[in-house]
Amino acid sequence: MQKADLDWKNLTFGFHKTDCNIRYTWKDGAWSGGTLSEDQHIPIHIGATSLHYGQTCFEGLKVFEQKNGDVVVFRVEENAKRLIRSCEKIFMAPVPEQLFIDAVYKVVNANLKFVPPYGTGASLYVRPFVFGSGPQVGVKPADEYTFMIFVTPVGPYFRTGFKPVHLIVEEEYDRAAPNGIGDVKVGGNYAAGLRASFRAKEQGYTEVLYLDAKEKRYIDESGPANFFGITKDNRYITPQSDSILPSITNMSLVSLAEEMGLNPERRPIDVEEIFSLKEAGCCGTAAVITPVGSITYGERKVVYSKDGNAGPIATALYNKLTGIQLGDEPDTRDWIRVIQAGSP
Ligand SMILES: *Cc1c(COP(=O)(O)O)cnc(C)c1O
Repeated sequence: MQKADLDWKNLTFGFHKTDCNIRYTWKDGAWSGGTLSEDQHIPIHIGATSLHYGQTCFEGLKVFEQKNGDVVVFRVEENAKRLIRSCEKIFMAPVPEQLFIDAVYKVVNANLKFVPPYGTGASLYVRPFVFGSGPQVGVKPADEYTFMIFVTPVGPYFRTGFKPVHLIVEEEYDRAAPNGIGDVKVGGNYAAGLRASFRAKEQGYTEVLYLDAKEKRYIDESGPANFFGITKDNRYITPQSDSILPSITNMSLVSLAEEMGLNPERRPIDVEEIFSLKEAGCCGTAAVITPVGSITYGERKVVYSKDGNAGPIATALYNKLTGIQLGDEPDTRDWIRVIQAGSP
């Protein structure tokens, strides 16, 4: 396969045009067949519920080229299931699991030349999304939905790569309410976090760390990523909360931590516990693991990385997970699906 002429090693986490996207419409109770389109724009009704009432949700997953040339996707069924939960929570027509998986395969196959070569550190980011495309003026669910996927080759999420980032505990703004929509991947959660995130960056931090909205005591998650810590006695701990997004990366790290003897615990984590951790990290598809170098909480600050490098456990988890994704480690957990076999 002739690859696109791109500077693979210097890709940013941004939008790069590919050949096409795929689109489906839901009307009168059924999804249409998928259409590949070169158009990067969507004609949309001015009354669409996504524009006015926030009926919109998305997914994010990655496709990799392995050493033998296989083009693979990581845990695609989990993304399909989570998209269904997101759709249902904000009253949209869910995309059936098999339709989702077929759509991912079709759009990746149509853009194979944009799958970054093995060894470049880049991957093909797959962005499925669903939105209310039918109009309503009163507050009601739409009678038409659109499901689309675009793909774009991406480099690392944080330009600094696998280097510790600096978080600040957000004490003013909340990202999500306890019985709200923080546990699904819907657009509004991100809008709610933009201002806090911008302010943190202005103050020299990489991202915020949210606390639970009710008590302001337990750790929820970072803006676009789950949080985990490594205790001094080598346990992997990660927050249990109704208002955080169940990260597939985190779920995978919990399995790996189990196998590595890190006795993972998913439970409410009092923010005071940050002062007794020996390592901390953020995790999500985009960044995989982002080691946390320091956390500022009010007047106090805890520093995990004094030399500007990631800790040994975060590094081991990162190597293990990316090793499985790239085929350098055996896929003993059935997480990998081959979209296109490499030619020998
Ligand atoms: C997508 C997302 C994550 C990461 O989930 P993954 O499945 O690991 O990519 C974490 N937090 C929020 C708020 C998210 O939207």
